[in-house]
Amino acid sequence: MIRFDNVTKTYMRGQHPAVENLDIEFTRGEFVFLVGASGSGKSTMMRMVLKETGPTRGTVYVAGKDLSRIPSWKVPALRRDIGMVFQDFRLLPSKTAYQNIEFALAVIGTPRKVVRRLVPEMLEMVGLEDKGKRLPHELSGGEQQRVAIARAYVNRPSILLADEPTGNLDPSTAEGILDLLGEINERGTTVVMATHDHSAVDRMRRRVVEMVGGQVVRDQEGGRYESETPVSVISGNLPDDSAHREEHPLDAAEYREPAERTERTEPEDDSAADVLEEELIDERDARLERDEAAFDEEDEDEEDRR
Ligand code: ADP
Ligand code: MG
Repeated sequence: MIRFDNVTKTYMRGQHPAVENLDIEFTRGEFVFLVGASGSGKSTMMRMVLKETGPTRGTVYVAGKDLSRIPSWKVPALRRDIGMVFQDFRLLPSKTAYQNIEFALAVIGTPRKVVRRLVPEMLEMVGLEDKGKRLPHELSGGEQQRVAIARAYVNRPSILLADEPTGNLDPSTAEGILDLLGEINERGTTVVMATHDHSAVDRMRRRVVEMVGGQVVRDQEGGRYESETPVSVISGNLPDDSAHREEHPLDAAEYREPAERTERTEPEDDSAADVLEEELIDERDARLERDEAAFDEEDEDEEDRR
């Protein structure tokens, strides 16, 4: 689904690379936590997947396609199949929750009838069915993030990238957001979440990729936030650690094949997905040039009618 093939990204000549010799693959349907200190390269990885920035060396593949070979006019289509959620929500401040979600559909030319069905469905999925008319500033942080997730997911993207989505939320609100991302993953979307949220990682026990200085230092299935390899084992001064080891002590923390690698190509819930299959996405590509100005006009019409 996503593959970094010996990828190095240096933003400025002479600077330490943001990402260095990255060789990693995220398969379809996986839920992956990217952990590591600020500046370790997590956001850079996501930006490369979105083709917001390109690698200095190496190749990034998304759905088997070498991104450097995707022409710029096809980039919007790529991004449409990748939902993105940010720490600071990034909702359109003058649009209601409903309209924020609607916007994501309308700019790609989704028929109005479909929009009217999907937006309430998404609001319900994120538990905001009664708050569609609220503006972002009339919603709590957690609610705003729910809207942002609904907007990112309404097109049923095959990939959802979440860059510290719980970073601005209190722990119990963060849990709800995490559950939602888990549900989206259950429905078949590959989720990659950069986070500093220890409890999120420890609760989910999914694949953990830990970055230090642009390099992967741990890739562990079912991991916790903190590496579980005891420091004493790493430094080799445990009196007799043979009982605790399997092969080389560090190998235990190395990446193993995901335990359940069921190919979940179809979302389990096809009520909305049926209209959002590949053909429809292709069809939308053809309508790509339809601009946002046209939508804004329609939007005003719609408001008048409400
Ligand atoms: P993280 O998301 O893990 O905090 P980033 O990918 O944002 O890490 O940053 C990795 C490194 O790249 C940092 O040293 C950061 O300063 C640098 N960096 C990120 N974006 C840019 C940019 N646009 N220009 C120059 N350097 C950047
Ligand atoms: Mg970041």
